[in-house]
Amino acid sequence: MSADSVSDLVSRYGGNLPRYTSYPTAASFSEAVGAQDVENWLRTLPVDLPVSLYFHVPFCDELCRFCGCTTSVMRHEDGRVAYGDLLREEMRRVVALTGEQRVVHHLQFGGGTPTTLPAASLRQLMRAVRTFFRFADHAELAMEMDPRHVPQGYPALLGDLGFNRISLGVQDLDEKVQEACGRHQSFAQTQSCIEQVRAAGVTGVNIDLIYGLPYQTVDSVGETARQIASLRPDRLAVFGYAHIPWKQKRQKLIPEAALPSSPERLAQRAQIDAVLQAEGYQAIGLDHYALPDDALAKAARAGTLHRNFQGYTTDSCPVLLGMGASAISMTPSGFAQNIPTVASYARSLADSAELPVMRGVACTADDRCRGAIIERIMCDLAVDLSANYIPGNPGPDGFAEELASLNRFERDGLITRDGSRIAVTEKGRPFLRNVAAVFDTRKKELAAASAGKTPTPRFSGAL
Ligand code: SF4
Repeated sequence: MSADSVSDLVSRYGGNLPRYTSYPTAASFSEAVGAQDVENWLRTLPVDLPVSLYFHVPFCDELCRFCGCTTSVMRHEDGRVAYGDLLREEMRRVVALTGEQRVVHHLQFGGGTPTTLPAASLRQLMRAVRTFFRFADHAELAMEMDPRHVPQGYPALLGDLGFNRISLGVQDLDEKVQEACGRHQSFAQTQSCIEQVRAAGVTGVNIDLIYGLPYQTVDSVGETARQIASLRPDRLAVFGYAHIPWKQKRQKLIPEAALPSSPERLAQRAQIDAVLQAEGYQAIGLDHYALPDDALAKAARAGTLHRNFQGYTTDSCPVLLGMGASAISMTPSGFAQNIPTVASYARSLADSAELPVMRGVACTADDRCRGAIIERIMCDLAVDLSANYIPGNPGPDGFAEELASLNRFERDGLITRDGSRIAVTEKGRPFLRNVAAVFDTRKKELAAASAGKTPTPRFSGAL
């Protein structure tokens, strides 16, 4: 793409958009949905429905300036042990509603840095998980780690407990970028963390990179991608830095003048893409890469990839039970989020016998239909508006307005159309969220509801 055409596209398709890890997105969550609704949803799950589990641990060993997550440093081990106890208590309440011995396909610990959970707490929690649930053959058990803080003995513990995947943040290896972000992490630390977990039998390795950080250049992000590819992680996620200082105060420490412009971000993204593909990685969806033999790459080729709050996944479970402060759960009836702060989450579990739910959204038939379309666009870069995989599909005639909105995408070479099939081109891949947003009526309703007000942007920049 020429520089001019890039600027043109940026000016026409910029703006703030959801990442579509769910539909409806978290922007539609409200306190109209509470603990009793979620308890009913869980109580009425079909008995043979498998589930996936997510445990959120909102503590880190140190805080990075760029990070948009709600995390804190919990120095006292007692506090972290107490949090592990809360996770077990919440799981006990959830299982009392869903019934025991459901099959689990995926389990993930995220955060934050979930390895801040003391080893004994993790052991106790996993023992409880294995009491309440049954893991499917080949279930994925994943743990996020910080290579700068690998607790002594933790890699062996993960191997022992049956974990088979870790996910590491690297973001960028350039020292000037790291200094501006307040995150110093050498290549040797990342390499050592991977070697330790692989030696313990944990074979799956995900690495996160970020472009759009202060002082990054096309050359510097390309060099980071090359070095990281030499470690042969089987999956990589490449995110655009989301600068949301109005929401995340610590980002005020990021030197804004050193942030790349939108066209520069697009060029950085293109450079990482070129390096990773040259290193043998397959591009997946909006922002993921995997070695061609990896299950995620195979699912992408087979059209069986899914997207949930953890991003792209092979997990097809319609139920994700999220536990911990701010964790999000998904059921066929709707989505729900727990109370976000640790203190209020703990108080809720201590003072009430209910689930510590803060807000959520119940799904309508229209949400399920649009959610399926958006998921296929985000995963396959294509959707057939006549397909019967779309629940309650009204067919192309039911989407006349959306089809008209897609005309400009077609003129710009971002999509092609063949009958009722819409396919996003390679040129259109960075604009995947824009294509998905065409089918997002909830976003339009929220925009209409806030018309005339000066809204705080809810989402990060699309590019
Ligand atoms: S990037 Fe990771 S380690 Fe840094 S503050 Fe965020 S969650 Fe914590």
